[in-house]
Amino acid sequence: MRIKLFIYNSYLRFAEKTKNIKMDSIKILWAALLIFLSYTAPAQVDTDSYLPKDFTYNPAIPTPASVLGFQLGEWHVSHDQVVMYMKALAAASDRVQIEEYARSYEQRPLLLLTITAPGNFPKIEQIKAQRENLRNTQAATPIESMPIVMYMGHSVHGNEPSGVNASLLSAYHFAAANEIAGDLENMIILLDPAINPDGINRFASWVNSHKSYQMNGDPNNRELNEAWPRGRTNHYWFDLNRDWLPVQHPESRGRIDKIQEWKPNIVLDFHEMGTNSTFFFQPGVPSRNHPLTPKKNFELTEKIATYHAKHLDKIGSLYYTQEDYDDFYYGKGSTYPDVQGAVGILFEQASSRGHLHESQFGLLSFPFTIKNQFTTALSSFEAARDMRVEMNQYMQDFYKEALTEANADPNNAYIFGSKDDAARVFHLADIIQQHDIQLFTLKQDVTLNGVEFEAEKSYILPLNQPQYRLIKGMFETRTEFQDSLFYDVSAWTLPMAFNMDYMALNSKILNLADVEEVDGPLIKPKGTVVGPEGAYSYAFVWNEYYAPKATYELMDKGYLVRVSHQPFQTESGLQFGRGSIVVVKGHSDDSDQEFYQTLQEVAINSGITIHALTSGYTSGVNLGSPSMQVLEKPKIALLVEGGVNSHEAGEMWHLLDQRFEMPITLLALEQMKGATLERYNVLLMPNGNYNQLGKLGAEKIKDWVRQGGTVLARGGAMSWLASNDIADFKFKEVSEEDTVVQKNYASFSRDMGSKVTGGAIFNVRLDVTHPIGYGYSKTELLSFRSGNQFLEVSDNPYANPMLYTDTPLASGYIYPYNAEQLRNSGAIQVSSIGSGKIIGYADNPNFRAFWFGTNKLFMNGIFFGQTIAGDTAR
Ligand SMILES: [Zn+2]
Repeated sequence: MRIKLFIYNSYLRFAEKTKNIKMDSIKILWAALLIFLSYTAPAQVDTDSYLPKDFTYNPAIPTPASVLGFQLGEWHVSHDQVVMYMKALAAASDRVQIEEYARSYEQRPLLLLTITAPGNFPKIEQIKAQRENLRNTQAATPIESMPIVMYMGHSVHGNEPSGVNASLLSAYHFAAANEIAGDLENMIILLDPAINPDGINRFASWVNSHKSYQMNGDPNNRELNEAWPRGRTNHYWFDLNRDWLPVQHPESRGRIDKIQEWKPNIVLDFHEMGTNSTFFFQPGVPSRNHPLTPKKNFELTEKIATYHAKHLDKIGSLYYTQEDYDDFYYGKGSTYPDVQGAVGILFEQASSRGHLHESQFGLLSFPFTIKNQFTTALSSFEAARDMRVEMNQYMQDFYKEALTEANADPNNAYIFGSKDDAARVFHLADIIQQHDIQLFTLKQDVTLNGVEFEAEKSYILPLNQPQYRLIKGMFETRTEFQDSLFYDVSAWTLPMAFNMDYMALNSKILNLADVEEVDGPLIKPKGTVVGPEGAYSYAFVWNEYYAPKATYELMDKGYLVRVSHQPFQTESGLQFGRGSIVVVKGHSDDSDQEFYQTLQEVAINSGITIHALTSGYTSGVNLGSPSMQVLEKPKIALLVEGGVNSHEAGEMWHLLDQRFEMPITLLALEQMKGATLERYNVLLMPNGNYNQLGKLGAEKIKDWVRQGGTVLARGGAMSWLASNDIADFKFKEVSEEDTVVQKNYASFSRDMGSKVTGGAIFNVRLDVTHPIGYGYSKTELLSFRSGNQFLEVSDNPYANPMLYTDTPLASGYIYPYNAEQLRNSGAIQVSSIGSGKIIGYADNPNFRAFWFGTNKLFMNGIFFGQTIAGDTAR
């Protein structure tokens, strides 16, 4: 090893001196070195050594090194450097056009390069129209002469850096290689160099700032151990590779717009996996394909795989297929295309994380990982070139078959709506519309099977449209599966996630004359104040999604805000349920006019309706009732870092910061120990391990709760609070008795895997008279669960506002023994100590930002936790 490092270091000095000098002798020397060092060497390479030898390159096109000032793989490119190179490339090459399709939260531009023969650019609109016709199968399409479209997405996970770094090589190669000029006549490459700019930059900054010039690959090195929350996720710590379907983040929304605009035939998705692995490319596990994906998709993936194999064989890289990963959840980049007549391909390269990493195969160098990714970009290019007609034909056939299936479907449409919350309806319709799906609105209110659908708050999705299979993929429920293992969630039924009234309609109850197609983008529901200025009081119901946002804004402006624990009605018949908010000027110095103006602004910002009340003499209870309680403005700290689950912490942060526009403090566990907790009245504890807080940290939280603080705790936080005697939560001891004395060794991991609850949807029963249940009109609700923590029901029957039902599984997979444990167990529970409360959530109410249906359970904890009577808690 010492000898190799010596050679490497000598080369580094040598390369420094000879940078940018292209001499054949250097190439030969370098090629010899590469062969000698092979996989295990900390190879330092220049652009030439990455590039295949059978190509020549246009010297007018800048190499990555000439723009960056260093060789790819020497340092991790920052996102600004990616942008700098791609712009330089586009400026120099008539094969490349560049566009900014979105901005990340941190205002980094998301770029898409269109790479094709220069002669194709004037025909782009015509090409897009032809592609539209592949979906809209009525029109004639010139399959034989149409170009193929291949999309390449890099490093959706920011700490999987070989993708984004290889994107510079791929872009250079496709822009500069002379020999592919003819191929590009029939091909359009859409190259997205960096799907997740914020995560990519966070990661690059970490590894670069810890890089030593003398590398040893020690896995203990700080360079190879990123700090919390790591670079995988976006600004709010979301996994963008789960957001292709829910599209809740600007990165995904912009990307899906482009995908729907172009309808690529092949979608490449460049990732990394554990360091002690090799290289994976799809197909994944055959039995774990989603049943809505046709078999032909798998066959085409297999055919494309032969190209990757051939190319990786040539450079001597190890790889595997079919034993791992799957195409089940349609929200992933390599699976989303599979339900739209395309083929998505996942690449997983063993990660060097930083610049050099010890592995079971020897030292794994960053340049080696870049080279593998680039090699599969080349193999994909060849596959696309050779399979052009076949892939376009497949897309057309896919949509023809989809329409045949739609016509055979016993149902003709789905309808969904919520008569007491327009905002949730809007957000679901918005997701659907993003995926090039036609939506219709009702012209008048209808009642179907006893459920009222209001024209303003409902949508209809006809099934007889090209995206039939994708619609099924969003709306169907499934509880039977070919396999019991899932790489990700087993259910994501969207109307369930939104707690929406919905049903499939057959032609008997569907009269299409009464609907109207949505033309253009959907408009967010508008809010207003109904009634005059200077009224006795103003009030609004809690059912509307953004009611908490309005409430916070009013509190923040210093008005007196109360929650009603009892329903009341006005003389004119307006109904206000439990949780309704009553607001007066209070101690504010505002004039009536200013107050009214503010109410208007708040109503508009939140899209809610605020009503003027002319008298306090309401029925049910009067407006001065003791059951109307003054609310304290939430001052929120969210515990982060250490063992805290960053995804869940990010979901809470995003929810409050983006949706409800409430400021919160991200309080690191170590910081918490020295901080003054009295600044806060709500403490959020996401799922995770809190042991590092120790006894002192636990005592501190306990004292703070005793004095009236409210804790919202999830999963592992509930266990920690219980074990430190802060909350009285009890969990079921679960261990399945095994009566079989001998089982096949080979089936061990499969048996274990089948017990995992990766994510499914369950029926729960909500007490809508409990502050945690305010704003819900029905006791039946759906909850998303992953994991096998089962909460015992509290002896205090008032402390169980939400319980699992007797037959909980609604959609997705759960192992039968676990399903049994879940029956009638606790879903939300309230514990108290002193004058404070701990609200325990067995399930994550904010899952991936698209579980709009349970967000209110969480917001209720924040706003109304302070009002829960101590005697009703555990
Ligand atoms: Zn990944």
